[in-house]
Amino acid sequence: MNCTCIDDINKEMIGQEIAHKIITKAQLLGVAFLFNNAGTTTYTEMEYEYEGCKRPKKINIMHTFCPFCGVKIEKPKE
Ligand SMILES: [Zn+2]
Repeated sequence: MNCTCIDDINKEMIGQEIAHKIITKAQLLGVAFLFNNAGTTTYTEMEYEYEGCKRPKKINIMHTFCPFCGVKIEKPKE
């Protein structure tokens, strides 16, 4: 990610109140660590079925832009 949205959102949650309790730890889900130390990206999970399958399958679709601020997510360097 070329922005700080994930860290910012996690930090903003800490100290907020929910059900009369203070949040002490927060971790945004849907964030993937890329191989080769290429940073992080966000993704959306998709569930699908096909003819003859017995249970729905899931895949992750990687975002090409930050879903929060719109900054392009750089592809990992080869
Ligand atoms: Zn962002």
